[in-house]
Amino acid sequence: MKSEILTALRNTKEYVSGQELCEKLGVSRTAVWKGMKKLKEEGYQIEAIPNKGYRLMESPDVLNAEELESIRKTAWAGKQIVYYHVTDSTNIQAKRLAEEGFPHGTLVVAERQESGRGRRGRFWESPEHAGVFMTILLRPDFEPKQASMLTIIAAMAVTKAIQTMMQLSAKIKWPNDIVLNDKKICGILTEMSTEMDAINYVVIGIGINVSNRQFGEEAAKIATSIAIESGMQVHRAELIESVWEWFEFYYDRFCKDGDLESIRKEYDACLVNRDRQVRILDPKEPFVGIAKGITKTGELIVETEEGMKQVSSGEVSVRGIYGYV
Ligand code: ATP
Repeated sequence: MKSEILTALRNTKEYVSGQELCEKLGVSRTAVWKGMKKLKEEGYQIEAIPNKGYRLMESPDVLNAEELESIRKTAWAGKQIVYYHVTDSTNIQAKRLAEEGFPHGTLVVAERQESGRGRRGRFWESPEHAGVFMTILLRPDFEPKQASMLTIIAAMAVTKAIQTMMQLSAKIKWPNDIVLNDKKICGILTEMSTEMDAINYVVIGIGINVSNRQFGEEAAKIATSIAIESGMQVHRAELIESVWEWFEFYYDRFCKDGDLESIRKEYDACLVNRDRQVRILDPKEPFVGIAKGITKTGELIVETEEGMKQVSSGEVSVRGIYGYV
Protein backbone atom coordinates (compact mmCIF):
# COMPACT_ATOMS: atom_id res chain seq x y z
CA MET A 1 0.00 0.00 0.00
CA LYS A 2 2.80 2.41 0.92
CA SER A 3 4.38 1.91 -2.47
CA GLU A 4 1.10 2.61 -4.33
CA ILE A 5 0.46 5.74 -2.29
CA LEU A 6 4.00 6.95 -2.91
CA THR A 7 3.66 6.29 -6.63
CA ALA A 8 0.38 8.21 -6.73
CA LEU A 9 1.92 11.13 -4.84
CA ARG A 10 4.95 11.15 -7.11
CA ASN A 11 2.81 11.07 -10.24
CA THR A 12 0.84 14.16 -9.22
CA LYS A 13 2.47 17.55 -9.47
CA GLU A 14 -0.26 19.22 -7.44
CA TYR A 15 -2.46 17.73 -4.74
CA VAL A 16 -4.12 14.37 -4.83
CA SER A 17 -7.28 14.10 -2.77
CA GLY A 18 -7.98 11.31 -0.31
CA GLN A 19 -11.03 10.39 -2.36
CA GLU A 20 -8.99 10.08 -5.57
CA LEU A 21 -6.48 7.86 -3.79
CA CYS A 22 -9.25 5.61 -2.44
CA GLU A 23 -10.73 5.21 -5.90
CA LYS A 24 -7.43 4.74 -7.66
CA LEU A 25 -6.13 2.17 -5.20
CA GLY A 26 -9.48 0.58 -4.41
CA VAL A 27 -9.07 0.94 -0.64
CA SER A 28 -10.81 2.70 2.24
CA ARG A 29 -10.11 6.19 3.59
CA THR A 30 -8.69 4.61 6.73
CA ALA A 31 -6.24 2.55 4.70
CA VAL A 32 -5.03 5.68 2.89
CA TRP A 33 -4.73 7.57 6.17
CA LYS A 34 -2.75 4.72 7.73
CA GLY A 35 -0.44 4.55 4.72
CA MET A 36 0.18 8.32 4.94
CA LYS A 37 0.92 8.03 8.64
CA LYS A 38 3.49 5.30 8.02
CA LEU A 39 5.17 7.31 5.29
CA LYS A 40 5.40 10.36 7.57
CA GLU A 41 6.90 8.22 10.31
CA GLU A 42 9.58 7.12 7.84
CA GLY A 43 10.53 10.72 7.14
CA TYR A 44 8.47 11.61 4.05
CA GLN A 45 7.24 15.17 4.26
CA ILE A 46 3.65 15.14 3.10
CA GLU A 47 1.56 18.25 3.13
CA ALA A 48 -2.13 17.67 3.85
CA ILE A 49 -4.54 20.51 3.07
CA PRO A 50 -8.25 20.16 3.75
CA ASN A 51 -10.38 20.17 0.58
CA LYS A 52 -7.28 19.91 -1.58
CA GLY A 53 -5.52 16.73 -0.57
CA TYR A 54 -1.99 15.49 -0.16
CA ARG A 55 1.28 16.56 -1.73
CA LEU A 56 4.73 15.03 -1.40
CA MET A 57 7.15 17.77 -0.36
CA GLU A 58 10.33 15.83 0.32
CA SER A 59 11.53 12.24 0.46
CA PRO A 60 14.10 10.95 2.91
CA ASP A 61 17.19 9.22 1.56
CA VAL A 62 15.89 5.76 2.32
CA LEU A 63 16.42 2.65 0.27
CA ASN A 64 13.68 0.09 0.35
CA ALA A 65 11.49 -1.68 -2.17
CA GLU A 66 8.60 0.83 -1.83
CA GLU A 67 10.81 3.84 -2.38
CA LEU A 68 12.54 2.27 -5.35
CA GLU A 69 9.33 0.98 -6.91
CA SER A 70 7.53 4.29 -6.59
CA ILE A 71 10.40 6.14 -8.26
CA ARG A 72 10.98 3.65 -11.09
CA LYS A 73 10.50 4.86 -14.66
CA THR A 74 12.42 2.15 -16.49
CA ALA A 75 10.81 -0.26 -18.96
CA TRP A 76 12.41 -3.49 -17.75
CA ALA A 77 15.50 -2.86 -15.63
CA GLY A 78 14.42 -3.21 -12.02
CA LYS A 79 10.89 -4.26 -12.94
CA GLN A 80 11.24 -6.65 -10.05
CA ILE A 81 13.18 -5.38 -7.05
CA VAL A 82 14.56 -7.54 -4.26
CA TYR A 83 15.68 -5.42 -1.34
CA TYR A 84 17.83 -6.42 1.63
CA HIS A 85 18.70 -4.18 4.50
CA VAL A 86 21.83 -6.23 5.09
CA THR A 87 23.17 -8.97 2.89
CA ASP A 88 26.48 -10.71 2.14
CA SER A 89 26.75 -9.35 -1.38
CA THR A 90 24.16 -8.31 -3.93
CA ASN A 91 26.02 -10.30 -6.61
CA ILE A 92 25.78 -13.45 -4.49
CA GLN A 93 22.05 -12.86 -3.98
CA ALA A 94 21.44 -12.10 -7.65
CA LYS A 95 23.19 -15.34 -8.64
CA ARG A 96 21.05 -17.25 -6.15
CA LEU A 97 17.88 -15.64 -7.52
CA ALA A 98 19.04 -16.41 -11.06
CA GLU A 99 19.33 -20.10 -10.15
CA GLU A 100 15.80 -19.90 -8.71
CA GLY A 101 14.51 -18.63 -12.04
CA PHE A 102 14.04 -14.90 -11.40
CA PRO A 103 13.53 -12.97 -14.65
CA HIS A 104 15.73 -10.76 -16.78
CA GLY A 105 15.91 -7.29 -15.26
CA THR A 106 15.55 -8.33 -11.62
CA LEU A 107 17.37 -5.81 -9.45
CA VAL A 108 18.88 -6.60 -6.07
CA VAL A 109 19.56 -3.64 -3.78
CA ALA A 110 21.06 -3.58 -0.29
CA GLU A 111 21.56 -0.89 2.29
CA ARG A 112 24.70 -2.63 3.48
CA GLN A 113 26.88 -5.52 2.31
CA GLU A 114 28.88 -7.63 4.69
CA SER A 115 31.10 -9.21 2.07
CA GLY A 116 30.96 -6.90 -0.91
CA ARG A 117 33.58 -7.90 -3.47
CA GLY A 118 35.48 -6.35 -6.35
CA ARG A 119 37.40 -8.19 -9.01
CA ARG A 120 39.65 -11.05 -7.97
CA GLY A 121 37.68 -11.40 -4.74
CA ARG A 122 38.92 -8.12 -3.30
CA PHE A 123 36.90 -6.57 -0.51
CA TRP A 124 34.48 -3.76 -1.35
CA GLU A 125 33.66 -1.39 1.53
CA SER A 126 29.89 -1.18 1.78
CA PRO A 127 28.82 0.79 4.86
CA GLU A 128 25.21 1.52 5.77
CA HIS A 129 23.52 4.74 4.53
CA ALA A 130 26.63 5.76 2.62
CA GLY A 131 26.42 4.04 -0.71
CA VAL A 132 24.53 2.28 -3.43
CA PHE A 133 25.03 -1.49 -3.63
CA MET A 134 23.05 -3.16 -6.34
CA THR A 135 23.14 -5.95 -8.88
CA ILE A 136 21.06 -6.51 -11.97
CA LEU A 137 20.29 -9.96 -13.31
CA LEU A 138 20.31 -10.29 -17.09
CA ARG A 139 19.41 -13.19 -19.32
CA PRO A 140 20.73 -12.00 -22.66
CA ASP A 141 20.58 -14.16 -25.75
CA PHE A 142 23.94 -13.21 -27.16
CA GLU A 143 27.22 -15.12 -27.01
CA PRO A 144 29.35 -15.39 -23.85
CA LYS A 145 32.21 -13.52 -25.51
CA GLN A 146 30.00 -10.43 -25.77
CA ALA A 147 29.27 -10.34 -22.04
CA SER A 148 32.36 -8.33 -21.10
CA MET A 149 30.90 -5.47 -23.13
CA LEU A 150 28.16 -5.22 -20.51
CA THR A 151 30.69 -3.82 -18.05
CA ILE A 152 31.39 -1.04 -20.55
CA ILE A 153 27.67 -0.33 -20.81
CA ALA A 154 27.21 -0.32 -17.04
CA ALA A 155 30.17 2.06 -16.65
CA MET A 156 28.62 4.40 -19.21
CA ALA A 157 25.29 4.27 -17.43
CA VAL A 158 26.74 5.17 -14.01
CA THR A 159 28.89 7.92 -15.51
CA LYS A 160 25.97 9.45 -17.40
CA ALA A 161 23.70 9.25 -14.37
CA ILE A 162 26.22 11.14 -12.23
CA GLN A 163 27.01 13.65 -14.95
CA THR A 164 23.40 14.47 -15.74
CA MET A 165 21.93 14.28 -12.26
CA MET A 166 24.69 16.16 -10.44
CA GLN A 167 26.55 17.96 -13.19
CA LEU A 168 29.77 16.39 -11.92
CA SER A 169 32.56 15.39 -14.22
CA ALA A 170 32.57 11.65 -13.55
CA LYS A 171 34.95 9.69 -15.77
CA ILE A 172 35.63 6.04 -16.52
CA LYS A 173 38.81 4.21 -15.66
CA TRP A 174 38.59 1.34 -18.11
CA PRO A 175 37.06 -1.09 -17.75
CA ASN A 176 35.17 -1.14 -14.48
CA ASP A 177 35.82 1.89 -12.28
CA ILE A 178 34.24 5.34 -12.22
CA VAL A 179 36.32 8.21 -10.89
CA LEU A 180 35.74 11.75 -9.73
CA ASN A 181 38.79 14.01 -9.65
CA ASP A 182 40.92 10.95 -10.38
CA LYS A 183 39.68 9.00 -7.34
CA LYS A 184 37.43 5.98 -7.36
CA ILE A 185 33.74 6.47 -6.57
CA CYS A 186 32.35 3.33 -8.16
CA GLY A 187 33.33 -0.23 -8.97
CA ILE A 188 31.55 -2.68 -11.23
CA LEU A 189 31.76 -6.45 -11.08
CA THR A 190 30.27 -8.49 -13.93
CA GLU A 191 29.90 -12.25 -13.48
CA MET A 192 28.47 -14.79 -15.82
CA SER A 193 27.10 -18.32 -15.79
CA THR A 194 27.25 -20.25 -19.05
CA GLU A 195 25.78 -23.54 -20.18
CA MET A 196 27.29 -25.20 -23.21
CA ASP A 197 28.13 -22.20 -25.38
CA ALA A 198 25.27 -20.01 -24.27
CA ILE A 199 24.83 -17.48 -21.51
CA ASN A 200 22.69 -18.79 -18.72
CA TYR A 201 22.71 -15.43 -16.94
CA VAL A 202 24.88 -12.42 -16.24
CA VAL A 203 24.92 -10.36 -13.05
CA ILE A 204 26.33 -6.85 -12.97
CA GLY A 205 27.12 -5.51 -9.51
CA ILE A 206 27.58 -1.79 -8.98
CA GLY A 207 28.88 -0.13 -5.82
CA ILE A 208 28.80 3.67 -5.67
CA ASN A 209 30.30 5.77 -2.87
CA VAL A 210 27.67 8.40 -2.20
CA SER A 211 28.13 9.95 1.22
CA ASN A 212 31.12 8.08 2.69
CA ARG A 213 33.31 10.41 4.72
CA GLN A 214 36.18 8.00 5.27
CA PHE A 215 37.59 4.73 4.03
CA GLY A 216 39.65 1.89 5.44
CA GLU A 217 43.40 1.89 5.05
CA GLU A 218 43.56 0.00 1.77
CA ALA A 219 40.83 1.89 -0.08
CA ALA A 220 41.72 5.32 1.36
CA LYS A 221 44.58 5.77 -1.12
CA ILE A 222 42.32 5.57 -4.13
CA ALA A 223 38.72 6.04 -2.97
CA THR A 224 36.44 9.01 -2.63
CA SER A 225 32.71 9.71 -2.56
CA ILE A 226 30.29 12.07 -4.24
CA ALA A 227 29.86 13.91 -0.91
CA ILE A 228 33.61 14.33 -0.34
CA GLU A 229 34.20 15.67 -3.84
CA SER A 230 31.15 17.87 -4.23
CA GLY A 231 29.53 18.35 -0.84
CA MET A 232 26.28 17.23 -2.47
CA GLN A 233 23.62 15.24 -0.70
CA VAL A 234 22.29 12.66 -3.08
CA HIS A 235 18.94 10.92 -2.92
CA ARG A 236 20.19 7.40 -3.59
CA ALA A 237 16.92 6.01 -4.95
CA GLU A 238 16.93 8.71 -7.65
CA LEU A 239 20.52 7.88 -8.50
CA ILE A 240 19.61 4.20 -8.82
CA GLU A 241 16.67 5.06 -11.06
CA SER A 242 18.84 7.23 -13.28
CA VAL A 243 21.55 4.56 -13.61
CA TRP A 244 19.04 1.99 -14.88
CA GLU A 245 17.37 4.43 -17.25
CA TRP A 246 20.77 5.07 -18.86
CA PHE A 247 21.60 1.38 -18.74
CA GLU A 248 18.44 0.52 -20.66
CA PHE A 249 19.28 3.18 -23.22
CA TYR A 250 22.76 1.79 -23.92
CA TYR A 251 21.81 -1.87 -23.51
CA ASP A 252 19.02 -1.60 -26.07
CA ARG A 253 21.42 0.06 -28.51
CA PHE A 254 24.00 -2.65 -27.86
CA CYS A 255 21.47 -5.44 -28.46
CA LYS A 256 20.38 -3.85 -31.72
CA ASP A 257 23.93 -3.32 -33.02
CA GLY A 258 25.63 -6.37 -31.49
CA ASP A 259 28.66 -4.27 -30.55
CA LEU A 260 29.69 -0.95 -29.02
CA GLU A 261 30.31 0.97 -32.23
CA SER A 262 27.54 3.50 -31.62
CA ILE A 263 28.60 4.05 -27.99
CA ARG A 264 32.35 4.15 -28.59
CA LYS A 265 32.78 7.89 -29.18
CA GLU A 266 30.74 8.80 -26.14
CA TYR A 267 32.66 6.27 -24.04
CA ASP A 268 36.04 7.54 -25.21
CA ALA A 269 35.01 11.06 -24.25
CA CYS A 270 34.48 9.79 -20.69
CA LEU A 271 37.72 7.82 -20.52
CA VAL A 272 39.85 9.31 -17.75
CA ASN A 273 43.17 8.04 -19.11
CA ARG A 274 42.53 8.98 -22.69
CA ASP A 275 45.76 10.29 -24.22
CA ARG A 276 47.52 9.77 -20.90
CA GLN A 277 50.32 7.37 -20.15
CA VAL A 278 49.15 4.16 -18.52
CA ARG A 279 50.71 1.06 -17.09
CA ILE A 280 48.96 -2.12 -18.13
CA LEU A 281 49.36 -4.57 -15.28
CA ASP A 282 49.06 -7.72 -17.31
CA PRO A 283 50.17 -10.63 -15.11
CA LYS A 284 51.88 -12.18 -18.15
CA GLU A 285 53.50 -9.13 -19.64
CA PRO A 286 53.09 -5.65 -18.07
CA PHE A 287 53.72 -2.70 -20.37
CA VAL A 288 53.45 1.06 -20.68
CA GLY A 289 51.72 3.11 -23.35
CA ILE A 290 49.19 5.82 -24.09
CA ALA A 291 45.51 4.97 -23.78
CA LYS A 292 43.64 5.98 -26.93
CA GLY A 293 40.10 4.69 -26.53
CA ILE A 294 38.18 1.45 -26.91
CA THR A 295 37.47 -0.87 -29.84
CA LYS A 296 33.92 -1.67 -30.89
CA THR A 297 34.17 -4.82 -28.78
CA GLY A 298 35.39 -3.04 -25.66
CA GLU A 299 39.17 -3.63 -25.66
CA LEU A 300 41.39 -0.73 -24.60
CA ILE A 301 43.57 0.59 -27.41
CA VAL A 302 47.06 1.45 -26.17
CA GLU A 303 49.76 3.07 -28.24
CA THR A 304 53.16 1.61 -27.39
CA GLU A 305 56.66 1.85 -28.83
CA GLU A 306 55.99 -1.40 -30.66
CA GLY A 307 52.75 -0.11 -32.15
CA MET A 308 49.07 -0.24 -31.19
CA LYS A 309 47.99 -2.93 -28.76
CA GLN A 310 44.50 -4.02 -27.77
CA VAL A 311 43.97 -4.98 -24.15
CA SER A 312 41.02 -7.09 -23.10
CA SER A 313 39.69 -6.68 -19.59
CA GLY A 314 40.03 -10.15 -18.04
CA GLU A 315 42.72 -10.10 -15.41
CA VAL A 316 44.27 -6.82 -16.44
CA SER A 317 44.45 -3.64 -14.32
CA VAL A 318 45.23 -0.20 -15.65
CA ARG A 319 47.14 2.38 -13.64
CA GLY A 320 48.51 5.85 -14.25
CA ILE A 321 52.26 6.22 -14.38
CA TYR A 322 52.42 7.87 -10.97
CA GLY A 323 49.37 6.44 -9.25
CA TYR A 324 45.88 5.09 -9.56
CA VAL A 325 44.90 7.11 -12.64
P1 ATP B 1 41.97 -2.33 -10.73
O1 ATP B 1 41.51 -3.09 -11.89
O2 ATP B 1 42.14 -0.91 -11.04
O3 ATP B 1 43.15 -2.96 -10.05
P2 ATP B 1 39.73 -3.21 -9.72
O4 ATP B 1 38.77 -2.61 -10.64
O5 ATP B 1 40.18 -4.59 -9.96
O6 ATP B 1 40.96 -2.32 -9.67
P3 ATP B 1 37.96 -3.73 -7.79
O7 ATP B 1 38.24 -5.16 -7.75
O8 ATP B 1 36.82 -3.25 -8.59
O9 ATP B 1 39.24 -3.04 -8.26
O10 ATP B 1 37.80 -3.15 -6.32
C1 ATP B 1 38.49 -3.66 -5.23
C2 ATP B 1 39.48 -2.64 -4.72
O11 ATP B 1 38.88 -1.37 -4.55
C3 ATP B 1 39.97 -3.01 -3.33
O12 ATP B 1 41.19 -3.66 -3.43
C4 ATP B 1 40.13 -1.68 -2.57
O13 ATP B 1 41.42 -1.17 -2.68
C5 ATP B 1 39.22 -0.75 -3.31
N1 ATP B 1 37.97 -0.47 -2.59
C6 ATP B 1 37.31 -1.21 -1.67
N2 ATP B 1 36.16 -0.64 -1.30
C7 ATP B 1 36.09 0.51 -2.01
C8 ATP B 1 35.13 1.55 -2.07
N3 ATP B 1 34.00 1.55 -1.37
N4 ATP B 1 35.39 2.57 -2.92
C9 ATP B 1 36.50 2.62 -3.67
N5 ATP B 1 37.44 1.66 -3.64
C10 ATP B 1 37.24 0.62 -2.83
